Amino acid sequence: MAYIQFSPHPQVPTSEGPDGALVRSGRMEGQTIDDCIIVGAGPAGLTAAIYLARYHLSIRMFDSGTSRAGWIPMSHNHAGYPEGISGRDLLARMQEQAAKYGALREPKRVTELARTDGHFAVRCGDETFHARSVLLATGVVNRRPEGMEDGFHDEAMARGLIRYCPVCDGYEVTDKRVAVLGTGDHGTAEAQFLRGYTADLTLISPHGDHDLSDECSARLDAAGIARVAGPCSDFALDAGGIGFETGEGRMRFDSLYPALGSDIRSGLAVACGASVSEEGCILVDDHLETDVPGLFAAGDVVVGLDQISHAMGQAGVAATTIRNHLSEQRPLRR
Ligand SMILES: Cc1cc2nc3c(=O)[nH]c(=O)nc-3n(C[C@H](O)[C@H](O)[C@H](O)COP(=O)(O)OP(=O)(O)OC[C@H]3O[C@@H](n4cnc5c(N)ncnc54)[C@H](O)[C@@H]3O)c2cc1C
Repeated sequence: MAYIQFSPHPQVPTSEGPDGALVRSGRMEGQTIDDCIIVGAGPAGLTAAIYLARYHLSIRMFDSGTSRAGWIPMSHNHAGYPEGISGRDLLARMQEQAAKYGALREPKRVTELARTDGHFAVRCGDETFHARSVLLATGVVNRRPEGMEDGFHDEAMARGLIRYCPVCDGYEVTDKRVAVLGTGDHGTAEAQFLRGYTADLTLISPHGDHDLSDECSARLDAAGIARVAGPCSDFALDAGGIGFETGEGRMRFDSLYPALGSDIRSGLAVACGASVSEEGCILVDDHLETDVPGLFAAGDVVVGLDQISHAMGQAGVAATTIRNHLSEQRPLRR
Protein backbone atom coordinates (compact mmCIF):
# COMPACT_ATOMS: atom_id res chain seq x y z
CA MET A 1 0.00 0.00 0.00
CA ALA A 2 1.30 3.46 -0.87
CA TYR A 3 2.23 5.24 2.29
CA ILE A 4 4.91 7.64 3.33
CA GLN A 5 8.21 6.00 4.13
CA PHE A 6 9.98 6.83 7.35
CA SER A 7 13.11 5.91 9.20
CA PRO A 8 12.93 3.68 12.29
CA HIS A 9 10.95 5.24 15.09
CA PRO A 10 13.19 7.60 17.07
CA GLN A 11 13.47 7.40 20.82
CA VAL A 12 10.84 9.62 22.34
CA PRO A 13 10.19 10.28 26.00
CA THR A 14 7.46 8.26 27.64
CA SER A 15 5.32 8.99 30.64
CA GLU A 16 2.75 7.03 32.56
CA GLY A 17 -0.83 7.87 31.61
CA PRO A 18 -3.65 7.93 34.17
CA ASP A 19 -4.60 4.35 33.34
CA GLY A 20 -1.03 3.19 33.85
CA ALA A 21 -0.42 2.93 30.08
CA LEU A 22 2.76 4.36 28.65
CA VAL A 23 2.07 7.46 26.59
CA ARG A 24 4.76 8.60 24.17
CA SER A 25 4.75 12.32 24.69
CA GLY A 26 6.78 13.24 21.60
CA ARG A 27 7.68 16.54 23.24
CA MET A 28 11.49 16.34 22.92
CA GLU A 29 13.22 19.40 21.46
CA GLY A 30 14.93 18.81 18.14
CA GLN A 31 14.16 16.15 15.60
CA THR A 32 11.43 14.14 17.29
CA ILE A 33 9.11 12.73 14.65
CA ASP A 34 5.62 12.21 15.99
CA ASP A 35 3.23 9.63 14.62
CA CYS A 36 0.63 12.25 13.81
CA ILE A 37 0.10 15.98 14.05
CA ILE A 38 -3.51 17.12 14.17
CA VAL A 39 -4.25 20.64 12.98
CA GLY A 40 -7.44 21.92 14.59
CA ALA A 41 -9.15 21.04 17.88
CA GLY A 42 -12.82 21.26 16.98
CA PRO A 43 -15.04 18.15 17.12
CA ALA A 44 -13.06 16.47 14.29
CA GLY A 45 -9.56 17.16 15.66
CA LEU A 46 -10.48 16.29 19.24
CA THR A 47 -12.16 13.02 18.24
CA ALA A 48 -9.05 12.05 16.28
CA ALA A 49 -6.88 12.98 19.27
CA ILE A 50 -8.89 10.71 21.58
CA TYR A 51 -8.66 7.78 19.15
CA LEU A 52 -4.97 8.23 18.30
CA ALA A 53 -3.88 8.70 21.92
CA ARG A 54 -5.80 5.56 22.87
CA TYR A 55 -3.98 3.72 20.06
CA HIS A 56 -0.74 4.57 21.98
CA LEU A 57 0.52 6.83 19.20
CA SER A 58 2.63 9.92 19.79
CA ILE A 59 0.64 12.92 18.65
CA ARG A 60 0.46 16.68 18.88
CA MET A 61 -2.62 18.82 18.33
CA PHE A 62 -2.29 22.48 17.33
CA ASP A 63 -5.28 24.79 17.43
CA SER A 64 -5.83 28.48 16.77
CA GLY A 65 -9.02 28.55 18.88
CA THR A 66 -11.76 29.46 16.38
CA SER A 67 -13.88 26.30 16.29
CA ARG A 68 -17.29 26.79 14.71
CA ALA A 69 -18.58 24.60 17.49
CA GLY A 70 -17.58 27.35 19.93
CA TRP A 71 -20.38 29.51 18.44
CA ILE A 72 -23.18 27.04 19.18
CA PRO A 73 -25.31 28.57 21.96
CA MET A 74 -27.11 25.25 22.55
CA SER A 75 -27.18 22.22 20.30
CA HIS A 76 -30.32 20.12 20.46
CA ASN A 77 -29.51 17.70 17.65
CA HIS A 78 -26.25 16.27 18.96
CA ALA A 79 -27.15 12.78 20.15
CA GLY A 80 -26.65 11.89 23.79
CA TYR A 81 -27.66 15.25 25.30
CA PRO A 82 -31.46 15.26 25.67
CA GLU A 83 -31.42 18.69 27.32
CA GLY A 84 -28.96 20.06 24.74
CA ILE A 85 -25.34 21.09 25.15
CA SER A 86 -23.53 24.31 24.28
CA GLY A 87 -20.66 24.09 21.82
CA ARG A 88 -18.19 25.36 24.41
CA ASP A 89 -19.23 22.73 26.95
CA LEU A 90 -18.92 20.01 24.34
CA LEU A 91 -15.43 21.17 23.35
CA ALA A 92 -14.39 21.39 27.02
CA ARG A 93 -15.59 17.83 27.65
CA MET A 94 -13.78 16.53 24.59
CA GLN A 95 -10.58 18.36 25.57
CA GLU A 96 -10.79 16.84 29.04
CA GLN A 97 -11.26 13.36 27.55
CA ALA A 98 -8.31 13.78 25.14
CA ALA A 99 -6.07 15.17 27.92
CA LYS A 100 -6.86 12.10 30.04
CA TYR A 101 -4.90 10.07 27.48
CA GLY A 102 -2.07 12.58 27.14
CA ALA A 103 -3.36 14.45 24.08
CA LEU A 104 -3.16 18.14 24.90
CA ARG A 105 -4.45 20.99 22.77
CA GLU A 106 -1.56 23.35 22.05
CA PRO A 107 -2.69 26.90 21.25
CA LYS A 108 -0.63 27.46 18.10
CA ARG A 109 -1.54 28.37 14.54
CA VAL A 110 0.06 26.22 11.86
CA THR A 111 1.48 28.53 9.22
CA GLU A 112 3.12 26.08 6.80
CA LEU A 113 2.91 22.42 5.91
CA ALA A 114 5.34 20.56 3.66
CA ARG A 115 6.28 16.97 2.91
CA THR A 116 10.04 16.46 3.12
CA ASP A 117 12.30 13.40 3.45
CA GLY A 118 9.41 10.97 3.82
CA HIS A 119 7.63 12.86 6.57
CA PHE A 120 5.78 16.13 7.17
CA ALA A 121 7.26 19.39 8.42
CA VAL A 122 4.66 21.45 10.28
CA ARG A 123 5.57 25.04 10.94
CA CYS A 124 4.03 27.26 13.63
CA GLY A 125 5.70 30.64 13.20
CA ASP A 126 9.39 30.05 13.89
CA GLU A 127 8.96 26.53 15.34
CA THR A 128 9.00 23.40 13.18
CA PHE A 129 7.58 20.00 14.16
CA HIS A 130 7.81 16.70 12.30
CA ALA A 131 5.33 13.87 11.90
CA ARG A 132 4.78 10.71 9.88
CA SER A 133 1.18 11.69 9.19
CA VAL A 134 -0.93 14.82 9.45
CA LEU A 135 -4.66 15.21 9.94
CA LEU A 136 -6.16 18.53 8.85
CA ALA A 137 -9.31 19.32 10.84
CA THR A 138 -9.27 23.05 10.19
CA GLY A 139 -12.97 23.62 9.46
CA VAL A 140 -14.60 26.52 7.64
CA VAL A 141 -15.58 30.11 8.46
CA ASN A 142 -19.14 31.34 7.78
CA ARG A 143 -19.33 34.64 5.87
CA ARG A 144 -21.11 37.24 7.97
CA PRO A 145 -23.57 39.93 6.85
CA GLU A 146 -21.78 43.05 5.66
CA GLY A 147 -21.96 46.15 7.82
CA MET A 148 -22.75 44.31 11.04
CA GLU A 149 -20.49 44.97 14.04
CA ASP A 150 -18.86 41.91 15.61
CA GLY A 151 -20.33 42.58 19.08
CA PHE A 152 -23.84 42.94 17.68
CA HIS A 153 -23.42 39.81 15.55
CA ASP A 154 -22.17 37.71 18.44
CA GLU A 155 -25.00 38.78 20.75
CA ALA A 156 -27.60 38.09 18.05
CA MET A 157 -26.13 34.64 17.45
CA ALA A 158 -26.00 33.81 21.17
CA ARG A 159 -29.72 34.67 21.38
CA GLY A 160 -30.68 32.63 18.29
CA LEU A 161 -31.68 35.78 16.36
CA ILE A 162 -28.95 35.06 13.81
CA ARG A 163 -28.49 31.41 12.85
CA TYR A 164 -26.19 29.67 10.40
CA CYS A 165 -27.23 26.06 10.28
CA PRO A 166 -30.78 25.05 9.26
CA VAL A 167 -29.88 21.36 9.63
CA CYS A 168 -28.85 22.04 13.26
CA ASP A 169 -31.51 24.43 14.46
CA GLY A 170 -34.28 24.72 11.86
CA TYR A 171 -36.48 22.91 14.37
CA GLU A 172 -36.12 25.85 16.77
CA VAL A 173 -37.74 28.24 14.21
CA THR A 174 -40.77 26.04 13.54
CA ASP A 175 -43.68 28.31 12.50
CA LYS A 176 -41.66 31.46 13.22
CA ARG A 177 -41.11 34.50 10.98
CA VAL A 178 -37.78 33.82 9.32
CA ALA A 179 -35.57 35.62 6.78
CA VAL A 180 -32.76 34.15 4.70
CA LEU A 181 -30.08 36.64 3.65
CA GLY A 182 -28.88 35.40 0.29
CA THR A 183 -29.76 34.90 -3.34
CA GLY A 184 -28.99 32.64 -6.32
CA ASP A 185 -28.80 28.84 -6.05
CA HIS A 186 -27.39 28.87 -2.53
CA GLY A 187 -29.96 31.27 -1.08
CA THR A 188 -32.79 29.41 -2.83
CA ALA A 189 -31.66 26.02 -1.52
CA GLU A 190 -31.37 27.31 2.05
CA ALA A 191 -34.80 28.99 1.91
CA GLN A 192 -36.36 25.83 0.45
CA PHE A 193 -34.83 23.73 3.22
CA LEU A 194 -36.20 26.09 5.88
CA ARG A 195 -39.65 25.91 4.23
CA GLY A 196 -39.88 22.51 5.91
CA TYR A 197 -40.10 24.36 9.24
CA THR A 198 -42.09 27.49 8.54
CA ALA A 199 -44.36 28.99 5.89
CA ASP A 200 -43.43 32.56 6.92
CA LEU A 201 -40.23 32.81 4.97
CA THR A 202 -38.58 35.73 3.12
CA LEU A 203 -35.47 35.59 0.96
CA ILE A 204 -33.63 38.92 1.13
CA SER A 205 -30.92 39.81 -1.36
CA PRO A 206 -27.64 40.96 0.21
CA HIS A 207 -27.09 43.50 -2.59
CA GLY A 208 -29.88 45.31 -4.44
CA ASP A 209 -32.11 43.14 -6.61
CA HIS A 210 -32.10 39.37 -6.48
CA ASP A 211 -30.00 37.35 -8.88
CA LEU A 212 -32.27 34.37 -9.49
CA SER A 213 -32.54 32.02 -12.45
CA ASP A 214 -36.01 31.18 -13.81
CA GLU A 215 -35.70 27.79 -12.17
CA CYS A 216 -34.91 29.28 -8.74
CA SER A 217 -37.79 31.75 -9.08
CA ALA A 218 -40.17 28.93 -9.98
CA ARG A 219 -39.04 26.87 -6.97
CA LEU A 220 -39.45 29.82 -4.62
CA ASP A 221 -42.90 30.60 -6.06
CA ALA A 222 -43.99 26.99 -5.66
CA ALA A 223 -42.93 27.06 -2.02
CA GLY A 224 -44.59 30.44 -1.36
CA ILE A 225 -41.29 32.08 -0.33
CA ALA A 226 -41.37 35.91 -0.52
CA ARG A 227 -38.50 37.89 -2.07
CA VAL A 228 -37.25 41.26 -0.94
CA ALA A 229 -34.45 43.41 -2.41
CA GLY A 230 -31.44 44.43 -0.31
CA PRO A 231 -29.12 45.70 0.85
CA CYS A 232 -29.69 45.32 4.60
CA SER A 233 -28.51 47.90 7.10
CA ASP A 234 -29.26 49.54 10.44
CA PHE A 235 -29.68 46.24 12.31
CA ALA A 236 -31.31 46.32 15.77
CA LEU A 237 -32.28 43.66 18.31
CA ASP A 238 -35.34 43.68 20.53
CA ALA A 239 -36.67 41.22 23.08
CA GLY A 240 -37.41 38.46 20.58
CA GLY A 241 -36.39 39.54 17.13
CA ILE A 242 -34.03 41.29 14.75
CA GLY A 243 -35.03 44.32 12.67
CA PHE A 244 -33.25 46.06 9.78
CA GLU A 245 -33.70 48.24 6.74
CA THR A 246 -34.06 46.47 3.40
CA GLY A 247 -34.36 47.83 -0.16
CA GLU A 248 -38.12 47.75 0.46
CA GLY A 249 -38.38 49.31 3.90
CA ARG A 250 -37.81 48.25 7.51
CA MET A 251 -38.61 44.64 8.41
CA ARG A 252 -38.45 42.49 11.54
CA PHE A 253 -38.00 38.72 11.90
CA ASP A 254 -37.75 36.16 14.68
CA SER A 255 -34.52 34.83 13.15
CA LEU A 256 -32.20 35.67 10.26
CA TYR A 257 -30.18 33.00 8.46
CA PRO A 258 -27.23 34.43 6.49
CA ALA A 259 -26.73 32.16 3.44
CA LEU A 260 -23.60 33.88 2.17
CA GLY A 261 -21.33 30.85 1.87
CA SER A 262 -18.19 29.90 3.78
CA ASP A 263 -14.44 30.25 3.47
CA ILE A 264 -12.86 26.79 3.54
CA ARG A 265 -9.64 26.58 5.55
CA SER A 266 -7.84 24.30 3.11
CA GLY A 267 -4.78 26.48 2.40
CA LEU A 268 -2.35 24.16 4.18
CA ALA A 269 -3.59 21.19 2.14
CA VAL A 270 -3.19 23.10 -1.12
CA ALA A 271 0.33 24.23 -0.15
CA CYS A 272 1.22 20.59 0.50
CA GLY A 273 -0.01 19.53 -2.95
CA ALA A 274 -3.41 18.04 -2.05
CA SER A 275 -6.37 18.47 -4.40
CA VAL A 276 -9.41 20.48 -3.44
CA SER A 277 -12.87 20.86 -4.97
CA GLU A 278 -14.00 23.94 -6.91
CA GLU A 279 -15.36 25.37 -3.65
CA GLY A 280 -12.05 24.67 -1.88
CA CYS A 281 -13.03 21.57 0.16
CA ILE A 282 -10.20 19.06 0.61
CA LEU A 283 -10.74 15.97 -1.56
CA VAL A 284 -10.32 12.67 0.28
CA ASP A 285 -10.87 8.96 -0.37
CA ASP A 286 -13.24 6.73 1.61
CA HIS A 287 -10.69 6.57 4.43
CA LEU A 288 -10.27 10.36 4.55
CA GLU A 289 -6.79 10.31 3.02
CA THR A 290 -5.96 13.09 0.53
CA ASP A 291 -4.02 12.42 -2.65
CA VAL A 292 -0.84 13.22 -0.68
CA PRO A 293 -0.01 9.91 1.05
CA GLY A 294 -0.09 10.29 4.84
CA LEU A 295 -2.08 13.55 4.72
CA PHE A 296 -5.64 13.15 6.00
CA ALA A 297 -8.55 15.56 6.45
CA ALA A 298 -11.81 15.38 8.40
CA GLY A 299 -14.74 17.56 9.40
CA ASP A 300 -16.19 20.66 7.76
CA VAL A 301 -13.04 21.20 5.65
CA VAL A 302 -14.03 18.06 3.69
CA VAL A 303 -17.23 17.98 1.60
CA GLY A 304 -20.02 16.69 3.82
CA LEU A 305 -22.90 17.49 6.10
CA ASP A 306 -21.05 20.14 8.18
CA GLN A 307 -22.32 18.60 11.40
CA ILE A 308 -20.61 17.54 14.62
CA SER A 309 -21.70 13.92 14.16
CA HIS A 310 -20.19 13.81 10.68
CA ALA A 311 -16.94 15.48 11.80
CA MET A 312 -16.62 12.94 14.62
CA GLY A 313 -17.37 9.96 12.37
CA GLN A 314 -14.86 11.06 9.75
CA ALA A 315 -12.22 11.65 12.43
CA GLY A 316 -12.73 8.14 13.81
CA VAL A 317 -12.23 6.63 10.35
CA ALA A 318 -9.19 8.83 9.61
CA ALA A 319 -7.55 8.07 12.97
CA THR A 320 -8.01 4.33 12.56
CA THR A 321 -6.64 4.41 9.02
CA ILE A 322 -3.61 6.39 10.23
CA ARG A 323 -3.06 3.80 12.94
CA ASN A 324 -3.37 0.92 10.50
CA HIS A 325 -0.98 2.49 7.98
CA LEU A 326 1.62 3.20 10.69
CA SER A 327 1.36 -0.34 12.02
CA GLU A 328 2.22 -1.68 8.54
CA GLN A 329 5.56 0.11 8.83
CA ARG A 330 6.54 -1.15 12.28
CA PRO A 331 4.96 -2.76 15.32
CA LEU A 332 3.29 0.05 17.27
CA ARG A 333 3.96 -1.37 20.74
CA ARG A 334 7.46 -2.12 21.97
C1 LIG B 1 -24.01 28.92 15.02
C2 LIG B 1 -23.70 27.47 14.72
C3 LIG B 1 -24.50 26.47 15.25
C4 LIG B 1 -24.23 25.14 14.97
N1 LIG B 1 -25.01 24.18 15.57
C5 LIG B 1 -24.75 22.88 15.37
C6 LIG B 1 -25.53 21.87 15.99
O1 LIG B 1 -26.44 22.15 16.75
N2 LIG B 1 -25.23 20.56 15.70
C7 LIG B 1 -24.22 20.22 14.86
O2 LIG B 1 -24.00 19.03 14.65
N3 LIG B 1 -23.45 21.16 14.28
C8 LIG B 1 -23.67 22.48 14.51
N4 LIG B 1 -22.90 23.44 13.90
C9 LIG B 1 -21.82 23.00 12.98
C10 LIG B 1 -20.59 22.54 13.78
O3 LIG B 1 -20.17 23.60 14.61
C11 LIG B 1 -19.48 22.13 12.83
O4 LIG B 1 -19.96 21.14 11.92
C12 LIG B 1 -18.29 21.56 13.60
O5 LIG B 1 -17.78 22.51 14.50
C13 LIG B 1 -17.18 21.12 12.62
O6 LIG B 1 -16.09 20.65 13.36
P1 LIG B 1 -14.61 20.71 12.76
O7 LIG B 1 -13.75 20.09 13.80
O8 LIG B 1 -14.58 20.18 11.38
O9 LIG B 1 -14.27 22.27 12.61
P2 LIG B 1 -14.25 23.43 13.69
O10 LIG B 1 -15.12 23.11 14.85
O11 LIG B 1 -14.52 24.71 12.98
O12 LIG B 1 -12.74 23.42 14.24
C14 LIG B 1 -11.66 23.76 13.41
C15 LIG B 1 -10.49 24.19 14.30
O13 LIG B 1 -9.30 24.26 13.49
C16 LIG B 1 -8.56 25.39 13.94
N5 LIG B 1 -7.66 25.81 12.87
C17 LIG B 1 -7.96 26.22 11.61
N6 LIG B 1 -6.85 26.51 10.93
C18 LIG B 1 -5.81 26.28 11.79
C19 LIG B 1 -4.39 26.42 11.67
N7 LIG B 1 -3.81 26.84 10.55
N8 LIG B 1 -3.62 26.13 12.75
C20 LIG B 1 -4.18 25.69 13.91
N9 LIG B 1 -5.53 25.53 14.07
C21 LIG B 1 -6.32 25.83 13.02
C22 LIG B 1 -9.61 26.44 14.24
O14 LIG B 1 -9.10 27.46 15.09
C23 LIG B 1 -10.70 25.59 14.91
O15 LIG B 1 -10.52 25.54 16.31
C24 LIG B 1 -23.14 24.79 14.14
C25 LIG B 1 -22.33 25.80 13.60
C26 LIG B 1 -22.60 27.12 13.88
C27 LIG B 1 -21.71 28.20 13.31
